[in-house]
Order: sequence, then structure tokens, then C-alpha cells
Amino acid sequence: MQLDAIGKDKLHHLLRAMPKAELHIHIEGSLEPELIFALAQRNGVSLSYPSVEALRAAYAFTDLQSFLDIYYAGASVLLKAQDFEDMAMAYFRRARADNVVHAELFFDPQTHTARGVSFETVITGLTHACARAQAELGISSSLIMCFLRHLSEEEAFATLEEAMPFRSQIVGVGLDSSERGHPPEKFARVFAKCRELGLHLVAHAGEEGPPAYVWSALDVLKVERIDHGVRSVEDPVLMQRLARERVPLTVCPLSNVKLCVFKTMSEHNLATLLDQGLAATVNSDDPAYFGGYMNDNFVATFDALPQLTARHAYQLAANSFEASFVDAAAKSAWKAQLDQVFAAA
Ligand SMILES: [Zn+2]
Repeated sequence: MQLDAIGKDKLHHLLRAMPKAELHIHIEGSLEPELIFALAQRNGVSLSYPSVEALRAAYAFTDLQSFLDIYYAGASVLLKAQDFEDMAMAYFRRARADNVVHAELFFDPQTHTARGVSFETVITGLTHACARAQAELGISSSLIMCFLRHLSEEEAFATLEEAMPFRSQIVGVGLDSSERGHPPEKFARVFAKCRELGLHLVAHAGEEGPPAYVWSALDVLKVERIDHGVRSVEDPVLMQRLARERVPLTVCPLSNVKLCVFKTMSEHNLATLLDQGLAATVNSDDPAYFGGYMNDNFVATFDALPQLTARHAYQLAANSFEASFVDAAAKSAWKAQLDQVFAAA
């Protein structure tokens, strides 16, 4: 395919039209203010914000922690399985509009079980939504259960225990929430256990934390993908390893700017990651809070970084399929769809 012959004028169309997988989406982070208020009303939960506008206006974050405080407040309206299903369906509809053909959804059971909402309630709602996404929208999906890293490893073990009756509904486990001060190795034993259970392993590392956290996510937790990982560029030896082993990085550009990991989008290092041979992907992280879903992320990044071309766009979509936890047949079917879109450009 003549990727380098495709002009810049075709980029916006290609970015929107190309099939893609989303591998870094916290489903609780897709909860839009309108839905937060609707669920609050349905469930009789009182919010500390008087209106949708006031809540949205509070989304001016200075770092990861300032975001997490509001994020946990928003999740407080989720009480019944139907609430989780409605939230995930709203995400899947947005994803469909962006030509996302496959999504691996993070969910944070501890955010809910700590409020007295059972693991079963959470997983039942999300599993229903995943089945409906396939039947109604043609989107394939799976669920990745995340441990909150600001909590203890014992609490992670307790959550894993609660998840066991639903093992077949979970494709893997991840590690999220406040990164600084909570290195991956804090969860070495629970990840080893998950590995024994045959779960796929991923972890957030190198977003606000140093490259050392990426090393320990790989070597101690033995993860298959790094979520974020943008600070890896500070360590050339790590960069070589990530490129050599094709370790996928699930990069979230709008999130990075909103949480001040980069001051502006024009300073983002996505082009560097790709040009150094890393299997970087683009994702939305917490789209309701960070200003956009998948295509918003693609367009904002390509608009701000003139060095990104159609070749990079193709590579990002291809990487998303390569990095996904699906079988080879599904990957090659999506790859063929991707080739078609670019061949028609
Ligand atoms: Zn994340």
C-alpha cells in the first residue's frame, strides 16, 4: 500500500473512518455529567453540584489526584446493575460512531464494593452491556478488572477472591488510580496469582511515575501491555527494550494534556514513540472527563503534531489490533478492514 502517497488533506477522514480498537478506557470515566444527574435522580442520590453545568465546570484538573477526587464522586450514582449497563451502553454508542470495532473496558470494582455495591451487581451490568454491544452495534468487547493501587495488596487479593465466581467474564487484570508512591511491585504477589489463573496482565506505569515503574511493571508484574508509558522516553535503554519486544503502550493524548503530563498537545511524544518503533496506540482513558472519545483524541493529536502522517495513522490502528487480547482470526479480519479503508483513500 502506498501510505506515503496519501495527502494530509485525507487525514481527518482516515482517522475517523479507520477501524480501531480501544484498549484503555475506564468505563466509569465515560460517565457524562448528564448521565450522572439522570442516575442520581433515578436512585435518589444527592450530588454536591447543583447542575450539569456546575459539575462540568469542576473538570479543571491540575494533576491525576485532582481528577480522581471528582471521578470517585461521579461514580457514587452507580448502584444497580442497570446503571452499569446504561453507562457502558452510552460508551459503546460513542465508540461505534468513532468506528471502534473492539473495546477492552477497564472497571474498578473496589470503587463500588467500598460503597456497598456488590461485585456481582457491577459485573452483571457490564456483561449485559458487552453482549448488547455485540448484538446491537457489532462491537466486540471484553472486561479488564483493575486494582486501585492506592489501596493495599491484601485488598486486591480480596477483590480477586470476589471476582472468582465470574472468572469467565474477565479477560485480564490491570492496575490504576494514583501512581506516584505506589510502584507496581507493591502488587507483585497478586499479579503472580492472576498470572497463574491465566488472566491477561496490564498496568498503568510511566504516566506520572518514573521509567523505573515501567521496568518493574514488566519485570516484576510481567504485564503484557503498559498503560500510558509516555515517560519511557526518559530512559533510552527502556525505549530500546519496548521497541524490541513490541510491548504495546496504550497512550491517551487528551488525558495527558488535561492532567498536565504534557503542557500542550504540541509537546506530546506520540510521534517519537512511533518513530522509535514502539507499538503505541491511541485511547481515550476517561473520555467524559478529558474532553473527548477516540476520534477526538486522534484528531487533536494529528492536528497538533505536523510530523504525524497517514503512515502513522495506519500504524496506530494496526497496533491497536496487534495489542488486543483476541484471537489471530479476529485480528486479521480487522486488519483487512483497515487495509480497505486506506486503499480507498
Ligand atoms: Zn487510565
